[in-house]
Amino acid sequence: MTTEELISNSNKYIMGTYARLPVALVRGEGVRVWDADGKEYLDFLAGIAVCALGHSNPLVSAAICAQAETLMHVSNIYHIEPQIRLAGLLVENSFADKVFFCNSGAEANEAAIKLARKYAHEHMGGNRYRIISMRNSFHGRTLATLTATGQERFQKGFDPLPTGFGYAPFDDLASLDRAVTEDVCAVLLEVIQGEGGVRVPQKGYLEGVRRICDDKGVLLILDEVQTGMGRTGDLFAYEKSGVAPDIMTLAKALGNGFPVGAMLATDRVAVSFTPGSHASTFGGNPLAMAAGLAVMDALLHRGVLDNCREVGAYFRDRLEGLKREHSIVREIRGRGLMIGVELSIEGADIVKGCMERGLLLNCTCGNILRFVPPLIITKGDVDQAVAILGGVMQEL
Ligand SMILES: *Cc1c(COP(=O)(O)O)cnc(C)c1O
Repeated sequence: MTTEELISNSNKYIMGTYARLPVALVRGEGVRVWDADGKEYLDFLAGIAVCALGHSNPLVSAAICAQAETLMHVSNIYHIEPQIRLAGLLVENSFADKVFFCNSGAEANEAAIKLARKYAHEHMGGNRYRIISMRNSFHGRTLATLTATGQERFQKGFDPLPTGFGYAPFDDLASLDRAVTEDVCAVLLEVIQGEGGVRVPQKGYLEGVRRICDDKGVLLILDEVQTGMGRTGDLFAYEKSGVAPDIMTLAKALGNGFPVGAMLATDRVAVSFTPGSHASTFGGNPLAMAAGLAVMDALLHRGVLDNCREVGAYFRDRLEGLKREHSIVREIRGRGLMIGVELSIEGADIVKGCMERGLLLNCTCGNILRFVPPLIITKGDVDQAVAILGGVMQEL
């Protein structure tokens, strides 16, 4: 089908939950994707920080194919060999002692919220159940994670929302300290806010959050759904701070495009989940775990993190160059290959212009261009992207 036919059928059959661009991508390889009319694009969005090892990564594809021919699905009523191996790798390379697998970021955060509540009921007396999250955050679209998401535009029309949530401004320790009252059991936050506009907190912020949580005896949950799995140049973004959470959630890049989510915790907290506490039919199924194992292998042993740090620094440098030439560029921020470009104008026309010239990116919060490309991009890819972006800015 041509793009035009696809769009017409899409509008006919698919619920209108997305403001889709008029493109249908049908094939991908590495950093590049092709649409239904054969046009090539440099993909600096990567399915929103999902395809960290590039599209159709041969190692991931081979692992999925081999697993599909061996055992695709069995119930968590049984022990699952690839699940045990992936959990082992995540535990050996993080603060955590135990893993629960699910299928998405929202589900991972749901699991984290449930675990924090269960732990609180057992260890903090009966009256501590509130979760404090940050203004401008994003944690998912289920009712509980939507409520934790500190942005009214996502919540409008879905009330009554679940109770037991509260908010504090991001990157503001004094306000967080005031928000963590006697009835709070956990603080939930992103290490760098993603959907909220690639907001990097001040140095020492995460350490300060940890200190507040420890002083008040509440759990720290880090949502690393976007920042985790190498995106910021470390396997997990919390590593740079030198402090660790009690619970962490992952999804997006964990399966490089195969849907996988995970909720990790220390033993102290994890023991509150006992048989029957929580479950997922598909969570941790062999096929998803095969994808996750291939991703972990690449991140740990194939130089992906080094490339992310090096090319990320180069990319930010090149963007600083654009900033000197174009007064509409207000600020470049980010870490590794999670980069935001704040503009003084709306970003939609720039996204559209780049797409027409063969570069995919997106825009959050109206005026913040977001780059979350595959972590395997080269400096040559960056040069090509910056040339396209510069050309589009020139024309405005
Ligand atoms: C994308 C995202 C989620 C939601 O993940 P889904 O897989 O869409 O449910 C949650 N938290 C953060 C930080 C995210 O970036």
